[in-house]
Amino acid sequence: MHRRNLSRTGLLIVLVALVVSADYARGWAAVSFISSGLAHLANRTQPVSLESALLETESKAAPEFAAGIWINSRPLTLKNLRGHVVLVEFWTFGCYNCRNTLPTVKSWHARYRDKGLTVVGVHSPELDNERDIANVRSEVASLEIHFPVLTDNDFATWKRYGVEAWPTLFILDKSGRVRWRHVGEGAYDDAEQIIQQLLTEDEQSRDKAKPVRIETAEMKEKIIKNDEEWRRQLSPDEYYVLRQSGTEPAFTGAYWANHEKGVYYCAACGLALFSSDAKYDSGTGWPSFFAPVSETNVITETDNSLGMARTEVKCRRCGSHLGHVFDDGPRPSGLRYCMNSVSLKFEKKP
Ligand SMILES: [Zn+2]
Repeated sequence: MHRRNLSRTGLLIVLVALVVSADYARGWAAVSFISSGLAHLANRTQPVSLESALLETESKAAPEFAAGIWINSRPLTLKNLRGHVVLVEFWTFGCYNCRNTLPTVKSWHARYRDKGLTVVGVHSPELDNERDIANVRSEVASLEIHFPVLTDNDFATWKRYGVEAWPTLFILDKSGRVRWRHVGEGAYDDAEQIIQQLLTEDEQSRDKAKPVRIETAEMKEKIIKNDEEWRRQLSPDEYYVLRQSGTEPAFTGAYWANHEKGVYYCAACGLALFSSDAKYDSGTGWPSFFAPVSETNVITETDNSLGMARTEVKCRRCGSHLGHVFDDGPRPSGLRYCMNSVSLKFEKKP
């Protein structure tokens, strides 16, 4: 994803610098250079959070679309779309993250429109040439977008939805409430599951709305055990990493080369932490993810041990050490959650 007002040159500089340091194993010096020298740039360009968690129980009514020119459709209103599941994607045609997301969004439109899904692409432009409606029309045609597109040149719809970056997706239930939101590429499996689930739901009154969401740390009680209890529960390797903030040797863990689909749970308390959807090959020898399943399931803390400024990642529920997070990850978050295999327990999911 990319953020509004983001300098593309600045992003390039960061990306080039980060490529240089993309190795946890041999990149210590480079990593500290990044975190010190480019911190302000990195902070400005790194998304603060990647939100793929389903919205809380308080599903809010989605704001109505603001006025704008519609392509592929007569003007639509959410009021008239009651009874439909609506996927709203904020995009702009020059955004490569949006282009990467497009094939999936188009496939949902093709697969589910006869079952009650309406996809609306809200085109909120970033650059001058993206404001020109003729350009938007010709891009919509050449990208073979057949779903309705609302042009949002004045960012009125963008502001109503509180959007901050491209692409941002919202999924609305048949009663017009926002039930899911995601910033950036990815989480396609989650989104499709939500679409399927919402298509089976009836229009509901507010209090009957079933919250659909992944398990987050807040939903479970914190687990507090003393050192002796952890020592008894965990193997010596697990205890060393999880409770003494140790690091397993690179290329030795069970998961750095695991490509199966599924969920990675905290090895100490069983809280869901990472999904295979956010896993990528970092080449470091440690399992690496660009985002946790939910921001609320992990905590990050500054770690100045070993003479390096790093950010430690811990399980929110039991406080166990999982690994570190760096600024040199891939899009959409730009983050690399560099985890210890021994801190995780993987469960295969179809
Ligand atoms: Zn835990």
